[in-house]
Amino acid sequence: MSKMIRGTSVSTGLAMGAVHVVTTGVDAVPVFTVAPSMLQAEVDRLGEAVDLAMAELDRRHKVVATQAGSKEAEIFIVQKLVLQDPGALKEVEAKILVERVNAESAVKALIDRLTETLNGLGEAGSRGFAADVAEPWKRVLDALLNRNRETILSGREPIIIAAAELTPRVVAYLSRELVLAVVTEIGGRFSHGAVLARAMGIPCVVGVPDLLARLEKGMTVIVDGDRGKLLLTPTDEDKAEFQKRLELHDQRAALLAGFAHGVAETKDGFKLLVKANIEGLRDLDTFEIGTTDGVGLFRTEFLYMERDQFPSEEEQFRIYRQVLERMGDKPVTMRTLDIGADKTLPYFKTPKEPNPALGWRGLRISLGWRDLLRVQLRALLRASVAGNLRVLLPMVTSLEEIREVHKEFDVLRKDLIAQGYEVADNVPVGAMIEVPSSFLTLKHLIKEVDFISVGTNDLVQYLLAVDRDNPWVSKLFESYHPGVLVALEYIARISREAGKPCGVCGDMAGDPATAIMLMGFGFDSISAAAHFAPEIKYAVRSVTMNDARELAKVLADQAIVANVRKGLEEFAERFDLRGDALRV
Ligand code: PEP
Ligand code: MG
Repeated sequence: MSKMIRGTSVSTGLAMGAVHVVTTGVDAVPVFTVAPSMLQAEVDRLGEAVDLAMAELDRRHKVVATQAGSKEAEIFIVQKLVLQDPGALKEVEAKILVERVNAESAVKALIDRLTETLNGLGEAGSRGFAADVAEPWKRVLDALLNRNRETILSGREPIIIAAAELTPRVVAYLSRELVLAVVTEIGGRFSHGAVLARAMGIPCVVGVPDLLARLEKGMTVIVDGDRGKLLLTPTDEDKAEFQKRLELHDQRAALLAGFAHGVAETKDGFKLLVKANIEGLRDLDTFEIGTTDGVGLFRTEFLYMERDQFPSEEEQFRIYRQVLERMGDKPVTMRTLDIGADKTLPYFKTPKEPNPALGWRGLRISLGWRDLLRVQLRALLRASVAGNLRVLLPMVTSLEEIREVHKEFDVLRKDLIAQGYEVADNVPVGAMIEVPSSFLTLKHLIKEVDFISVGTNDLVQYLLAVDRDNPWVSKLFESYHPGVLVALEYIARISREAGKPCGVCGDMAGDPATAIMLMGFGFDSISAAAHFAPEIKYAVRSVTMNDARELAKVLADQAIVANVRKGLEEFAERFDLRGDALRV
């Protein structure tokens, strides 16, 4: 008998496969008592995990040394030395033997002690040191818990990942080839985990109650990302129905793919630029460059999140240069580091904040830790000659912040030229509009930036006072709130009056009818996951600019969300934006 459970869809699509549970975060470490006769086996298990961690550090050392140079790879030698320290190993072994606890909890106790002691020293330098000393032991913990990414994914059939929460760390497990779908107990539709799952085109359902308790290892499940459902142990009949739906899905994708290379031009000749959001260089392998009008948002923080330490100027420069080269003369918008809230760096310990979404994040961190900003801007400026670069600033709240960045930019440019580097003559600098104060002061701000890009994920969060990562309020997170539409209409109008390019790079731009509404407001570009491009182009080609303006006008005047949604739905039907007519 199959069993159906409901959750919330955050990324569409269908998948069937064996489920694998991922436990993430050091907090999820099990603690149990070990029988006296098993204590030596537990110590041996610890030894094996240390060996695995050493091998992993060796592997990383080699990879980084070849990709970024031997200096960047030195950290892994230090981390190996840490693991070879007999004192720490003895401490963990003694805990297992004396307290009769499992190896995982003994290692966790060591990590906690190291982090606490070194953080307690207070100096920023020792905070970094704490990360270096604790990090190799986290690898040992990973090995013990068998949750190392390679272990989970290597040599297996593609799997469905189940986890308690859709954190960026769970997302680190995602790979299009090996992960068919993701299901979690909690997670908001606009958490970064969800944004990434959508960007990767991986079906994802969150908010499935008691999910982990209902699963058995290896159990076959069907994930219905279109309807936010999960089917456990499907029957043959369920499987046959799944296959039928999958075929229809694929057929539609194949038909729309025919529009991927064309331009998004309305029947009366207006063009909407359709750009791609990326998180790193490897994303460029997942779509054809010719199907986009450029990169509208490169979330560079993922470069920092996937490493064990801050990427050096050289390392960043090489990556930025490659992205620019591969995009040719198409514009590439690289956003400066946007960490904070749920996007944290394991090696950069920030204080626990009571209200992180309103705390130390985005541009505030870059301006607070100037060296971070300077290293990144230098890398960007050096790479600028390789293509068509634009730099975008996240979480802008005031004009003063933009002026600060401009000052840094000018000094760095002069320094670089004096040092003999080539720098492009013109690197446009833009602001993300995602905080109410930035749109309310847009008429001033717009004069001192070259372009703007609206981050609706955060704009909605801050306009509606609804935390995008908090599952308790995720139902209140509403991109089609009439207040949001009023803000969008205003932002597009002010930007156009100032003659500055304006786009939307938040997730709502990925919906075809919404993209047309945005075009109707006056936005000249949208940026979304690349796989949305064919349907958006198809939709734009199905309407006139007048239709788009009419839609935008009607929707901006609605008093309640339901009417906005109804208006979009009716418009999509009327103009066949989903391409139903293509099928006959
Ligand atoms: C946004 O806030 O809409 C955005 C594009 O940025 P991020 O999702 O990375 O915060
Ligand atoms: Mg944002």
